[in-house]
Amino acid sequence: MHNDCFYCTKNEELKDLMIEIKSLEVSTLYLNRDQTHTGRCILAFNQHKKEIYELTEQERKFFMEDISTSARALKNAFAPKKINYGIYGDLVSHLHMHIVPKYENGVNWGEAFVNSPKQKDFINNEAYQEIVSEIKYNL
Ligand SMILES: [Zn+2]
Repeated sequence: MHNDCFYCTKNEELKDLMIEIKSLEVSTLYLNRDQTHTGRCILAFNQHKKEIYELTEQERKFFMEDISTSARALKNAFAPKKINYGIYGDLVSHLHMHIVPKYENGVNWGEAFVNSPKQKDFINNEAYQEIVSEIKYNL
């Protein structure tokens, strides 16, 4: 655990950025508060690891299962045409994956999603809870 990492401490900074949905096998699924792409999530590995190759073989397998479980839930909940996956971590090194539903002819369709768009789509708490419930139902 790193005290200066919001994924480790789950501090207010994390809560400003995302809403916890559920703890999976080796990671925790969050809803990104930016809902430019409806259902956009972040899956954070439970331990402070930086790179995929730092995981044990079993952790990698479980992490891939968690990714798959999350993506399937988003597909079933919101029927996107495709799901995009992104691991960057230049600035926040704790291993996490952006799981981003893409909608045909919607925002960024046919190209990479913008990780941190200048104009973010924040919705109200009731709308966040509806999306969280829909994802939980499909997990
Ligand atoms: Zn961390």
